[in-house]
Amino acid sequence: NVTDLLRSVPTGLWLNGASTPSESGRTFDVVNPATGEVLAAVANATPADAAAALDAASAVADEWAATAPRVRAEILRAAFEAVTARADDFALLMTLEMGKILPESRGEVAYGAEFLRWFSEEAVRIGGRTATAPAGTGEIAVVKEPVGPCLAITPWNFPLAMGTRKIGPALAAGCTVIVKPAEDTPLTMLLLAQVFAEVGLPAGVLSVLPTLDAPTVAGGLMEDPRLRKVSFTGSTGVGKILLAQAANNVLRTSMELGGSAPFVVFDDADLDKAVDGAMLAKMRNGGEACTAANRILVQNGIREAFTAKLTERVAAMRVGPGWEADSAIGPIINAKQRGSITALVDEAVAAGATVRTGGKPVDGAGFFYEPTVIDGLPDGARIRRDEIFGPVAAIVGFDTEEQGVAMANDTEYGLAAYFFTENVGRAQRVARRLQAGMVGVNRGVISDPAAPFGGIKQSGLGSEGGSEGIEEYLNTKYIALPPV
Ligand code: ADP
Repeated sequence: NVTDLLRSVPTGLWLNGASTPSESGRTFDVVNPATGEVLAAVANATPADAAAALDAASAVADEWAATAPRVRAEILRAAFEAVTARADDFALLMTLEMGKILPESRGEVAYGAEFLRWFSEEAVRIGGRTATAPAGTGEIAVVKEPVGPCLAITPWNFPLAMGTRKIGPALAAGCTVIVKPAEDTPLTMLLLAQVFAEVGLPAGVLSVLPTLDAPTVAGGLMEDPRLRKVSFTGSTGVGKILLAQAANNVLRTSMELGGSAPFVVFDDADLDKAVDGAMLAKMRNGGEACTAANRILVQNGIREAFTAKLTERVAAMRVGPGWEADSAIGPIINAKQRGSITALVDEAVAAGATVRTGGKPVDGAGFFYEPTVIDGLPDGARIRRDEIFGPVAAIVGFDTEEQGVAMANDTEYGLAAYFFTENVGRAQRVARRLQAGMVGVNRGVISDPAAPFGGIKQSGLGSEGGSEGIEEYLNTKYIALPPV
């Protein structure tokens, strides 16, 4: 029941282990994108609130860093169990504040919770190494230590998983964390913080600061020398601002930024597999994913057959509120984001592109946009460069493998790339030649908590998940010991 669920979610700042009003007394509204109605008013953190969170994070930092790894592991494991036990609540809450359909919200609960389990298992496996100096003059001991208090800034598209992917490794490593969730979707993170408190995470180790004033709140924290790391998932533009700010105190940084994933279908692909893959890579999460297929590049021999099949599948998707059982796709997160999708499509069409299905916003309440397939895109069309972040499949043809790979790499981004072929030699060749941090071969979804997620070029720095993910929260210390 929605009313009971919303009543159970804390709406204050999560500070010192409890839900707390902002010192300013101010709040802001969280809106249901399927209806435009207000779901809740949450506390609006100020820089003074953020300083209080950092006071708490610093006060307990040494004690938390010194907890036995097994204790940290057990808390993470208990949080995994608790989130899993409340999967229905988390899923409904994400559908309400973010809009994705319930089955996808359930999928995100499983995926998001898995980072807590995965890093509970990593917490007890933080290693180091020793060696004898080559000249025999001493012993080299290498140990790993938590970086210290961290700021995690998350986007709205995966309200749970983008948080747990940072909180999991940070807590496992022994760091304290302040989360600044996206203003559109703060409720999921607030509920998670409450769950962590219930399973015994000490007060101050995790704070959550919803705010409409992200630049000043984050800026203030990053100027404070007690903060040692910023981990950000969001747009490349904001990532660049944060990197510049991080330079002042030489903060450790992890940056998961924008993408413009190519989805390349070769003539020798299995057509049905490729269409299934495109449906996932493009339409999952309403296309609102940094890994979403942004440029669908199809070899000309198979292009019309692929486009016709994809169009048929996309045209059959029912648009509606995420909680309705027959909805295949929910609303866009907000009016601004829908406006930017509308502008990209309208511009392409004005320049001569063909709409195969969809192509416009849906009238009425909420921020729905029709699932869309367009082709015949002119060379300079902005939709061939910019991140669409919506349910619009933009198809472009190519002739040779060489040309397909060159087009795929012709972007400043380098997050995910997908391609479909049944030819093993081509699969190996193309996987190596694609400039991306993650490559899917005959697969439309690649995310996995056990794998390193991250981009190259302007898509970011560092990895989240896998055994690599915890390294982002550890410093390497070398201890020079006398010869034995
Ligand atoms: P999106 O386009 O997906 O909303 P953004 O990069 O704008 O991506 O936002 C991602 C996160 O970064 C959100 O939590 C947002 O509040 C935060 N954010 C935006 N601008 C800044 C900034 N100047 N400093 C710190 N955080 C910011």
